[in-house]
Amino acid sequence: MSRVDFSSLDAAGLNLQAVFDLSALPAELRAALDPQGRHRRLLLIGHGGRTLWEQVKAAGLASEHPIDDFTIAAVRDWFAEQLPDRAYELVYPGDGPIGLQALGRLAGWHHESPFRVGVNAEWGSWFAYRAVALTDAELATTAPVGGGSPCAVCSGQPCVVACPAGALADKDFSLQKCIAYRRQPDSRCRITCVARTSCPVRPEHRYDDAQIAHSYSRSLAMIERWGG
Ligand code: SF4
Ligand code: SF4
Repeated sequence: MSRVDFSSLDAAGLNLQAVFDLSALPAELRAALDPQGRHRRLLLIGHGGRTLWEQVKAAGLASEHPIDDFTIAAVRDWFAEQLPDRAYELVYPGDGPIGLQALGRLAGWHHESPFRVGVNAEWGSWFAYRAVALTDAELATTAPVGGGSPCAVCSGQPCVVACPAGALADKDFSLQKCIAYRRQPDSRCRITCVARTSCPVRPEHRYDDAQIAHSYSRSLAMIERWGG
């Protein structure tokens, strides 16, 4: 079993890592990720809090996808440093179907929130999936993070109350209401999600405004592109 040191990823802000035994994953996930059964382990990498954005800014990448480009370089450096003789395949970032939230659930990172972004007790909603790598190295697997869903003990559900579109008012999230509201010229959600920023869990990890704007302006651009 190979033990590895994640400290260089931590320093880059890629401070969430989960190692899965591919053979123990649900068959449909495994089949989509490694159809030929060439690998032994899956490494799920995420970021929690603000460090990644600070590192991306410090790197000064002039690219259309600075977070992805930074992440890819950092993960490749990490494999070169820790597992120089082992084969690996970076399957995300990329276009293939990965099932990030399903992996996040298995890692204990993802609990459903009313506004559809995952939430957990350690980072609130201020974390995200950044990379998925497959490797033939027999890395030691990690245990799922405990802690349960903060929504289960949330008083008053301030996120639901705060959504100006009422998109969280019913049992199921209304993507239609959310999108229709976000597209309005005077929407408060063009470059943020008011529900998300109203969640009181782990406010110390909240992204800075520029990172929130970066993320939500990208999703709004996609809405505008596909919504006609
Ligand atoms: S405000 Fe409460 S219900 Fe909403 S995401 Fe946060 S913990 Fe969950
Ligand atoms: S982006 Fe705005 S409209 Fe959509 S769920 Fe968040 S608060 Fe509601």
